[in-house]
Amino acid sequence: MRTTGDSPMWTKNMEEKKIYPSLSGDIKTDIVIVGGGITGALTAHYFMKQGMKCVLVDKNKIATHATSTSTAILKYEINPGLKKLISHVGEQNAQHAFLFGYQAVMEISQIIKEINSPCDFSFKPAFFYTEDSQQTDAMEQECKARQAIGISCELFTKEKNENEFSFNFESGIYSHYGAAIMNPVQFTHDLIEFNVKKGLEVFENTHIVDYNLSSHQSILTTEDEFTITAEKVIICTGVNALEFFKHEKPFCQLYRTFSILTKPVDNFKGWKESCIIRNDKKPYTYLRTTLNNEIIIEGEDLAITDLEGEIANMGDRDPLALQQYHQLLRRVRKMFPQIDEIKTSSWFHGLFIDTKDGLPFIGKHPDYPGAYFNLGYGSNGILSALIGAKLISQDVAGKNPPELEIFKFNRY
Ligand SMILES: Cc1cc2nc3c(=O)[nH]c(=O)nc-3n(C[C@H](O)[C@H](O)[C@H](O)COP(=O)(O)OP(=O)(O)OC[C@H]3O[C@@H](n4cnc5c(N)ncnc54)[C@H](O)[C@@H]3O)c2cc1C
Repeated sequence: MRTTGDSPMWTKNMEEKKIYPSLSGDIKTDIVIVGGGITGALTAHYFMKQGMKCVLVDKNKIATHATSTSTAILKYEINPGLKKLISHVGEQNAQHAFLFGYQAVMEISQIIKEINSPCDFSFKPAFFYTEDSQQTDAMEQECKARQAIGISCELFTKEKNENEFSFNFESGIYSHYGAAIMNPVQFTHDLIEFNVKKGLEVFENTHIVDYNLSSHQSILTTEDEFTITAEKVIICTGVNALEFFKHEKPFCQLYRTFSILTKPVDNFKGWKESCIIRNDKKPYTYLRTTLNNEIIIEGEDLAITDLEGEIANMGDRDPLALQQYHQLLRRVRKMFPQIDEIKTSSWFHGLFIDTKDGLPFIGKHPDYPGAYFNLGYGSNGILSALIGAKLISQDVAGKNPPELEIFKFNRY
């Protein structure tokens, strides 16, 4: 499968990023983290905070896979919505999952301050809307359910709030807090560099090809036949982790999703507070802005049913991808007719993995008791990575956080 295609926007200026060596001998460590995307970086950070000896390896360069194509919208809300999530995992778990997301946005902002990362982080309001008048009651119930757990949001309706946005909507939830935007590649590099100064060892171009996993001591072997012996193995390999679960019936759904980045625009007329926007259609459309007044619009997802097929292995300048980019451009122009000259600057596609309930898989899998998995599948990959990093590091420290139950494998 190909994880990314065309020109992922966050890979500009990669030549300025720090380069790490590849592993050139056998080593021993407390913790080995496999995967150097944003999930691996956050996982390393939480283990380093506990003073453990950590090694992070990536088969390629840091932050060049899913992390490099991410729209990097950080939002507390999990896509099915609170009411639907309750029907999947129960009231308490669903409420916890929403509040975890809320706290995770705050926590990531604190990490950014702590490491002094110029990753263009900015808090933003978020608007989730529907064009379907039949959904107004459901939207109101959803808004009340969120308010009941302390989330600061309000119901917008066409009658009351029509002037806030230039596009058509019937109703929506406008969240004042609990959402943000960032540059995920800059953040991943800065977080890794910060921890390298504290003793984290990082090896790029170091491909783990064999996992000899055991609860006491595991041995990982690289393509160059060097070994890493570790007390604990944390797998943060994103889509590549699916190789562990080939024998199981599919428990998640893969999509290829498409994005365009526009050139800077000179105003955001018809776009209240240039907030984060998502609609309720399937596939969703997401919109965000950047600190340079560009727009990112993502959507037009195509489901992947055949891992050997065209969509799973889509390359650059694929005619189907070009159609999806054009569709996104048409949509953003239609939504914001008062913004002059919306022109494309770059476009790209990436693999996205969703789950039935929108929640990630975090923790141990019954077939692999010797490893932890921090898999940011589901609706909020980046915040899930932070939540996973925190819970797994607590579990390794013997604190047995009960919240791991919410994100466990085999929950459906
Ligand atoms: C287009 C797109 C838009 C998205 N938008 C959002 C969004 O707005 N908000 C949000 O929260 N999430 C979003 N996501 C999801 C989010 O970006 C991902 O969940 C997150 O980037 C995954 O990071 P990761 O580190 O787990 O995976 P990756 O970035 O894919 O990193 C995994 C790393 O593991 C390495 N690896 C794999 N196998 C091995 C091996 N055997 N040995 C050594 N290294 C290995 C790879 O080289 C890779 O660098 C989006 C995803 C996509 C594709």
